[in-house]
Amino acid sequence: MIVAAHRQGRPWLGQTVGAQEEDVPEYAPDCYLCPCNARSSGAVNPDYAGVYVFDNDHPCVGADAPIDPLPATSPYTSRRANGIARVICYTPRHDRTLARMPIAQIAAVVESWRRETHDLAAHPQVKQVLIFENKGEVVGVSNPHPHGQIYATNFTWKTFDTELDAQRRYARDTGRALFADIIDAERRHGLRVLYEDERAIAFVPYFARYAYEVYVAPTRRVPHVSALSDAESESLARALKDVTVRYDNLWRQPFPYVMPLHQAPTDGGDYRDFHFFIGFLPPLRRPGTLKYLAGPEIGGGNFLSDTSPDEKAAELRAQSTIHYRDSAGS
Ligand SMILES: [Zn+2]
Repeated sequence: MIVAAHRQGRPWLGQTVGAQEEDVPEYAPDCYLCPCNARSSGAVNPDYAGVYVFDNDHPCVGADAPIDPLPATSPYTSRRANGIARVICYTPRHDRTLARMPIAQIAAVVESWRRETHDLAAHPQVKQVLIFENKGEVVGVSNPHPHGQIYATNFTWKTFDTELDAQRRYARDTGRALFADIIDAERRHGLRVLYEDERAIAFVPYFARYAYEVYVAPTRRVPHVSALSDAESESLARALKDVTVRYDNLWRQPFPYVMPLHQAPTDGGDYRDFHFFIGFLPPLRRPGTLKYLAGPEIGGGNFLSDTSPDEKAAELRAQSTIHYRDSAGS
């Protein structure tokens, strides 16, 4: 990762994106995630009250993946990718987001991550449970109904393989835990920490690639979200609330992001070195201005960051932890 914060003020003639429309109703008759509505598969959602999880009607990874989609000849190899894809509706309220949900409801979402990871990991073919949320039209989500997705796959994902390798190498070379040392370093520096209690922490990492990238992590090392205690889940929920409220308050508009849960594989291996955490990867670097991935990132394979993580953390730290649309906290 390369920091080039001096480039931030350069002229910009590229694409800008508008703030997402905020006039969102509590219930939308044409939303496939709202309670009691029909989905395109013909299935009808129950009149659910809390978190609602269902198998994705149009899975990217599913049991009906083609057996042999593209035969491979040397030097290529191929194998069948499949798995289980699910959708997690965070709440029946069409107009809510994590930032505007009470902490108890966010804790219920964390509880659903724990339950789904535990259950899906028990399937013999599932090697990894990837849980994520895409939020905002700039990351391709046109339906504002708050929801995340689960891909439980018969293969592992490259990002987590890389993190696992780094954590194992660090443990071997130093006898220490990499993520614990990152948390210690962020605590000592202090200026990039957004939230901290005895069980969870949120910070803009020293090596942030996106301007407002944030890590949210339990302070105890566990390889999967399913290993968290109830108290740790609640702390994680408080940290998620804190970060998402600061995001929305920053430009007084719904803040888009990609939010993956970083979990170890679930293939029965020894993953004690892996420290579960949640990453927020926001694509905007200014209101309405996308961070483009171009020559350095796509061509060179390294991120070129236009911003200083300390400055961006200071902007987030300066925000209120009460959402601008809520007169009081929750
Ligand atoms: Zn809805």
